[in-house]
Amino acid sequence: MNGCTRKRLLIIPFFLRNRGCRHRCVFCNERIIAGNAPPVTEDFMRQTVSACLAGRGGRYDRREIAFYGGSFTGMPRDEMQDLLDMASALIAQGAVHSIRVSTRPDDIDEARIRILASKGVSAVEIGAQSMDDGVLRKSERGHTTEDVRRAVRLCRDRGLETGLHLMAGLPGESRLSFEASVAETIRIAPDTVRIHPVIVFRDTQLARLYEQGEYRPLSLEDAVTWCKTALARLTRARIAVIRLGLQATEEMEREGSILAGPWHPAFRSLVESELFRDMALELLEKSGADSSGNVFHVAPADLSSFNGPGGRNRALLQSRLGGRPVAARPDPAVPRGALQLRDGRNEYGTSIAEAAARV
Ligand code: SF4
Repeated sequence: MNGCTRKRLLIIPFFLRNRGCRHRCVFCNERIIAGNAPPVTEDFMRQTVSACLAGRGGRYDRREIAFYGGSFTGMPRDEMQDLLDMASALIAQGAVHSIRVSTRPDDIDEARIRILASKGVSAVEIGAQSMDDGVLRKSERGHTTEDVRRAVRLCRDRGLETGLHLMAGLPGESRLSFEASVAETIRIAPDTVRIHPVIVFRDTQLARLYEQGEYRPLSLEDAVTWCKTALARLTRARIAVIRLGLQATEEMEREGSILAGPWHPAFRSLVESELFRDMALELLEKSGADSSGNVFHVAPADLSSFNGPGGRNRALLQSRLGGRPVAARPDPAVPRGALQLRDGRNEYGTSIAEAAARV
């Protein structure tokens, strides 16, 4: 099942490759990003949802059908209505609870939001990509940052959950400009954010710019650093970052699909590992790095981020402890994103949200 989960929420995605797109943004190759997504017919949707319910999907409190790819509200109205009717029939049967769609900010207006709300849509994910008008122009997005603000306002006024998509490393984007986009996102306060570092896919305008030496992608190291700051700041602002990095598809793994860029199939875990490394070093410093009996406590789901890729974080911590092994205990009492260090007498704690003050 190709679904993503959040707080007992199961998202069942259907990809509408480039449907509703009026033009092609410089970085976009949905053939690679969406993989071999089949056409979304009524039968396909029913079968996918049934298979999901027969598997682990039945265990979730909420199940949502998501229409991703393209620009949902940019499609002709009858196509949009047909898809919403198929999905809302499954809501009526109790198979799913709601619908989410992703769309462009300039394809949102009162009339279209009314249709969405009347058919059971509860969340709208808006492709902002950047909150810098110069960067949007260079990426040939065809909308402005004001369109993003207006779209979020309209959706929120209708009681819809809002999500923003951001990218890191767009043409003309500096770290400062990316951080300003994150700051503006925090000001707009959507419910959720997704961030994807820009990857140079074949058959895109960006690929041509890259080959002509007019675009240089971020290194993986820089992409992790930029996104680490963003994750910490958004977490502190209580905005859920529901995805960092693109989901791997078979097409992405195919030779020649990716020309350049900070591609990693587990990008989020790289970012979180760096944050946990920084947090662990900070706690060691607070406690006195050579005190004996140090035991880190971490939420079980964060243990691999604490350890780092290939145990890299643990090796670094061990060297800071003069070669003594690092004790780490998965502890269900510790919240996700938090880290505690206990040395027998004292307890020190920090979290990803607190890390925002230092990154
Ligand atoms: S609007 Fe989205 S799906 Fe359409 S071309 Fe641009 S990035 Fe691709």
